[in-house]
Amino acid sequence: MKINIAIDGPSGAGKSTISDILAQKLGYAHLDTGAMYRAVGYAALQRGYKMDEEEKIVKMIEELDLVVKTDNSIILNGEDISGKIRTNEISMAASDVSKLKNVRKALVAMQQKIASNKGYIVDGRDICEVVLPDAEVKIFLTASAEDRAKRRLLQNQEKGIDGDYETILEEIKKRDYQDSHRENSPLHKTDDATEIDSSDKSIEEVVNIIMQKVLEKQ
Ligand code: C5P
Repeated sequence: MKINIAIDGPSGAGKSTISDILAQKLGYAHLDTGAMYRAVGYAALQRGYKMDEEEKIVKMIEELDLVVKTDNSIILNGEDISGKIRTNEISMAASDVSKLKNVRKALVAMQQKIASNKGYIVDGRDICEVVLPDAEVKIFLTASAEDRAKRRLLQNQEKGIDGDYETILEEIKKRDYQDSHRENSPLHKTDDATEIDSSDKSIEEVVNIIMQKVLEKQ
């Protein structure tokens, strides 16, 4: 029986990497909801909108041709923007647009539709509580801000993206604050989620903990 797995947590905790591995092991699909907020932030910036122009941004979403492929590449109006949405500028734009209630409403509806057939690992900030409150396995994945900054720096270097440790750490702390203090769906651990601190764990260890939970439910 296929189930859904919800993984929430702050940026850089390893949600995407872990979700990809789980997807491969289980033959499931991974939905990266952060990439959807990034695509909306990217499109709003392209149009020169201010990040608090809710009405304009919601209307824009209705008109966008946004496709999230099963390999998590993001196609916006026919263009693959997967590489373009990983910059610091787009990270902040995503965090800004994600504060808007009606932007969240539109994207949550898309995410729920995508995951309705089960067999999904969905990662984000509000998955356990809002997107998939009925998910069979719920995880809150954390790590210290310093560890997350180190990992992000390495990832960026591998992808050829410029940036230094201090700037990345500052950006992570700023986004953590903004994501956990906003009015709409702030990032927090729900009572029914299992918290895993990945600071002192290998990727394999984290994957094994989650796999154990999945096997119990399947
Ligand atoms: O996960 P990622 O860092 O790509 O997400 C980018 C931003 O999108 C986050 O900082 C957060 O503000 C927002 N987001 C959200 N809800 C989600 C996923 C991401 O608010 N489910």
